[in-house]
Amino acid sequence: MKLEGAERDQTFTLVDAHCHWSTQHKECSANVTDIQWQPQLQGLEFNTITKRCVMSTNQWDWLSVKKLAEFDDEQFKIAFGIHPWYSHLFSTGSEYSTTLENKRNHYQNVLQYKSSQQEEFDCLIETLPHPLNVYDYIDSHFNKELVSCIGEIGLDKIFRLPRNGYYTSSSEPQQLSNIRVKMDHQLKILNILLDLSIKYSLPISVHDVKTHGVIFDVLKSRILSQQHIMICLHSFTGTAEFLKGNYLRVFGQERIFISFSKWINLDKNLNVFQEILKVLPKRCILTETDYTIDTNDRQQLARDLLYVNEQLKIYLDLESLEDITNLVKTNYIAFLSI
Ligand SMILES: [Zn+2]
Repeated sequence: MKLEGAERDQTFTLVDAHCHWSTQHKECSANVTDIQWQPQLQGLEFNTITKRCVMSTNQWDWLSVKKLAEFDDEQFKIAFGIHPWYSHLFSTGSEYSTTLENKRNHYQNVLQYKSSQQEEFDCLIETLPHPLNVYDYIDSHFNKELVSCIGEIGLDKIFRLPRNGYYTSSSEPQQLSNIRVKMDHQLKILNILLDLSIKYSLPISVHDVKTHGVIFDVLKSRILSQQHIMICLHSFTGTAEFLKGNYLRVFGQERIFISFSKWINLDKNLNVFQEILKVLPKRCILTETDYTIDTNDRQQLARDLLYVNEQLKIYLDLESLEDITNLVKTNYIAFLSI
């Protein structure tokens, strides 16, 4: 994208309201302080600063994500969460035994598979770690001084576990099993994280794949009365009618934020994006990459965010790029109450 005239010399503040840290073997994970976070974007026609809200999704990425807030809490706001793709790694009972039998019982209870897939299940059990008790995990890791948001949390109806038991940020394509996490277990984990959001009055960043109605019902019953809790539906792909008739009508535009990514909203669901913008008040708009910020090129992340801003500017018929970046920044501040 080429900028012209005065815009070329401006510095734009971009917002990545939903991004990630990679999940990989510890020895491969980058050190937070080794990365030059705001590089001069050499060779590009613009200067940018990015404000990021970084999600945590499991017990491994959390260890790096929490360091980001300790390193620079202006640039990084961090979220504490358990993503549905990792929800099976957590147990919700009061069973503390670490026997193999206990591990097997846990995964039998939370994973969904057919009897013909018993062999596949047995292989998975071998590679899966012993489950962590979710309440212990929260007690020992959640830190209200560092955390600005609860996320990534939510439900996913279609994902399948990789054969190694959980997603890692590997460059190799991961082979998928036919085994899924039961919806009732995903719901339990979601509800426990919503308890945390309610207890500390923290906004939530929500993952919703093919579960639009269920998530809406859960959020309505749990947090409608908690008027200070803001909701970000990240990379939302439900219909404009659903958004308008449910979230905007019931929660009101002050509490709902839709965060748009280049990857999901523009490249894969452009029609839905255009329809949503017809019903979505400007105050509800956020931007995101949904990418891992430690393993992706920071210049490319900035380019992607600028692309989303540029498209928003066009569809909303705004005058300048600054109009949209300022709007998104204002919305980001409102979402996180910062
Ligand atoms: Zn995400």
